[in-house]
Parts: sequence; C-alpha cells; structure tokens
Amino acid sequence: MKVIVLGAGIIGISTAYFLAKKGYEVVVIEKNSSCALGCSYANGGQLSYADINPLSSHNFLLPMLKAAIKPNSYLTIKDFNLDFLKWSREFFKNSSAPLFKANSLNLFFLSLKSKNALTKLLESETEIKFGYKEKGILHFFRNQKLFDEAIKQAEFRRSLGIRVEILRKEECVKKEPTLVSLYDQKKLLGGIFYPEDASGDSALFAKELEKICREKYAVVIKYDCDIKNIFTNYQKITGINTNKGVFIADKYVYALGAYSKRLLQGIQINSGIYPIKGYSLSIPANKEFLAPNLSLTDEENCLVYSRLNNIFRVAGTFEINNLKTNKNQSHINFLKQSVKSTFSDFGNLYEAKEWFGFRPFRANFIPLICQVKKYGNLYINSGHGHQGWTLAAASAEIITNLIAGQESEELKFLSAEEKFLYK
Ligand SMILES: Cc1cc2nc3c(=O)[nH]c(=O)nc-3n(C[C@H](O)[C@H](O)[C@H](O)COP(=O)(O)OP(=O)(O)OC[C@H]3O[C@@H](n4cnc5c(N)ncnc54)[C@H](O)[C@@H]3O)c2cc1C
Repeated sequence: MKVIVLGAGIIGISTAYFLAKKGYEVVVIEKNSSCALGCSYANGGQLSYADINPLSSHNFLLPMLKAAIKPNSYLTIKDFNLDFLKWSREFFKNSSAPLFKANSLNLFFLSLKSKNALTKLLESETEIKFGYKEKGILHFFRNQKLFDEAIKQAEFRRSLGIRVEILRKEECVKKEPTLVSLYDQKKLLGGIFYPEDASGDSALFAKELEKICREKYAVVIKYDCDIKNIFTNYQKITGINTNKGVFIADKYVYALGAYSKRLLQGIQINSGIYPIKGYSLSIPANKEFLAPNLSLTDEENCLVYSRLNNIFRVAGTFEINNLKTNKNQSHINFLKQSVKSTFSDFGNLYEAKEWFGFRPFRANFIPLICQVKKYGNLYINSGHGHQGWTLAAASAEIITNLIAGQESEELKFLSAEEKFLYK
C-alpha cells in the first residue's frame, strides 16, 4: 500500500519512518529543498516529556494578559482577525480547571508514549547522532507565586508517576553552575528538576532520519514540490496537486504544521490550527564560552535553553500575527536581554544566528492525530504547538497504527478530536 506524507518537518519525517518500517511504500512531498526547514529547524531542542500542561490554563491567563500589554515581553498580539478571535474563544474555554486537567492527562499519555517510541527508534537506528542528552530539564524560578503553582503541578505530575525533584536555590546551582549569576543577584528562588526529560537537535535528528528513510527503507522524498491543492471526489482524496504534477496514493497523511491551513479549508476541513511565531538564537558554544550544560526552562520569561553540540540555543516568545514573515526585532532583543540578565557568560551573543518559526497551535493543545472520516483515506498528524519535537515519535507511531487499522483504547481521545474538523 502506498502512502503520501505531506510535509517534511519533524512530524512528516518521523511519520515516513514509522510507515516505511511497517512495510508501506512511502512518498514525502515538501516545498523546501531539504527537510526540517520550517518550525522544526531551530527550536528549543527540549524533549520535555514532563511538561504536560497546556498553555491554556486558568493560572496562566493573568500573567499572559500582563505580558501582552507590557512592552518588551515574551508575548505580542498583532492579529485580531476572526480566525484568531475564534481560536482565542476556544483557548479560554479550555482554560477551565476541569478541561485543563483532562487535556493535561491526555498530554501525559502522549508524552509517555513518545519517550518510549523514541527510545525504541534509537535502539534500532543506532547511528543517529543529534546531540541527544538524557540528563533531565531544570525549571528555575525568580517569582514565588509561579514557583508555588509549579510545585502544585509538579506534585500532580508525581502522582502520575513522573519523577520530580523540588530543589532549593543552592541545589539548582549545584546541578547547573552557570545559574550562580542569578543566585548572586539574589534572584534565584529554587527549581524543579525533571530527570527523565532530555534534549537534542530536532533538525539534525530529522536530517539523519530522512537519510535512513531513503537509504534503508526506500522512502522517496520529493523536494521543491509545492502543494497547490488537494483533489477529492467528495468521498476520498484522489490526488495531491503540486507544481511538479499530481501525486496519487492509497492513503495520505497531512503533516504541514502551521502552514497551508488553506489546503484543508479547500476540502471543507477546519484544522483549528493557529500559527504562533516563536524566536530563537543559536550562540556558538566554544572553549571560551562555558555555556550551560543542562537544558533549562526559565518559567518567568517562558524561555528554554539547550546546549546542542556546539550551539547554545535560547528559544521562546509568542508573536500572534498570523503567518507574517517579518522579523520582530523586539522579540530578538527580549531573548538577548534575557540571556544577559540570567548568565554572567553568554558567549558571542552578537554573532548568534537569529531565527523564527511558526508553532502549529490548537486551542486545547491536543495535536490532531486522527483519520478524517469524511474522506476515509486522509489522516492528519499536525497541530503539536510548542511540543512537536517532544511528541513526534509517538505521533508518528500512532498515525501509522491508525493507518494499519490499530487503535489503542487509551488513545481514543485523539480520534475524538475529529469532530472539531467540521466546525
Ligand atoms: C521558538 C520555538 C521553540 C520551540 N521549542 C520546542 C522544544 O523545545 N521542544 C519541542 O518539543 N517543540 C518545540 N517547538 C515546537 C516544534 O518546533 C514544533 O511543534 C514542530 O517543529 C512542528 O513540526 P511539524 O513537522 O508539524 O511542522 P514543520 O516543521 O513546520 O513542518 C511542516 C513542513 O511542511 C512543509 N510545507 C508547508 N506547506 C507546504 C506546501 N504547500 N507544500 C509542500 N510542503 C509544505 C514546510 O515546508 C515544512 O517543512 C518550538 C517551536 C518554536 C517556534
């Protein structure tokens, strides 16, 4: 059976791998000339399995509103079109305590599955090198209210079986000595360490896995191939129309991330995915610059830090401006300012590579990993928001199982998301 995967980001490439490994004939279609050049290119690198809280949370609403009106913060809102307003309404709905808890539990199942799926993948593809570090992630705090709330959430996670360590400020510095600068400034209150979390370069991983897909599993990747529209006969998908002709298969997996929502709209499907731009800096980490070794999360500024081989990456910020591709310098400045105020050594910050990508966000933060029943042979694997790298392996495994007609009971909540597609 032949399957076409639309998009060669971390989700598309992982999907191609799992499908091909299960024996499907796979073709991937990608508009760029290489894989992982979209949102998967220079993200924060965190495999944050313990981070099961959707951002749509009653506790996060007030800090978010404050951030939105404050100049030079991690959040700017510039788009007030109907799409975004509808998305925001759903976001607020999902912030209620019961929905927040239900969504967190669902993300927990996915996270757990993803860690296992990536571990299995790395056991069979031992040659993949992507700066993988299984050393945990340390969340640090300067704000007592945030810290107290995060401790409550950490206790909930502990009750699910996630390993958690609540650390005093001295213990944080012991784990990651570069936090001494914050400690000396008397700004560090403490931290929460998730030892089972990890980090790695998602673009490098995608490139290595793409090579394995082609060389070991005969996956065909069509680059520079821009999808123009999706053909249907109203009962199933009949082809993918591109600048290089029409491609036909038995089944199709949509993995276009935040892009090309219009392609789904063209076949009367509403993915409910809204693009939220985020920025990153990649600072060269060399002998002169002792970058942090441990992956870190700065909860107050909603930023993550990861050392990925010879790069120290800082990533985060949220710019709500649809798919506008202009660079907002205030977000870059926010990242630079945060690095400077957190660490005493920040390397050659002014040589950092600046980047932005569009996170594919759904309002309830549950990715779409489902069959589109209206068309039968169409599947969606998209909408992973700020967690696409973390959830890629499970998402790819689950969609492959769905295509093979296998659905597990505990993941039925994913198929339930299908009902939102026709709104
Ligand atoms: C600043 C920032 C930091 C982040 N940090 C983390 C992190 O630490 N951990 C984590 O888990 N996640 C993180 N994320 C989120 C993560 O990067 C995304 O969820 C993930 O990359 C989404 O992958 P994707 O494959 O769905 O999308 P993409 O990587 O965007 O892939 C979609 C692909 O579809 C292609 N495409 C689009 N339209 C067409 C068309 N018409 N024809 C052909 N091809 C097309 C694109 O070119 C692209 O290659 C971060 C994101 C950002 C922006």
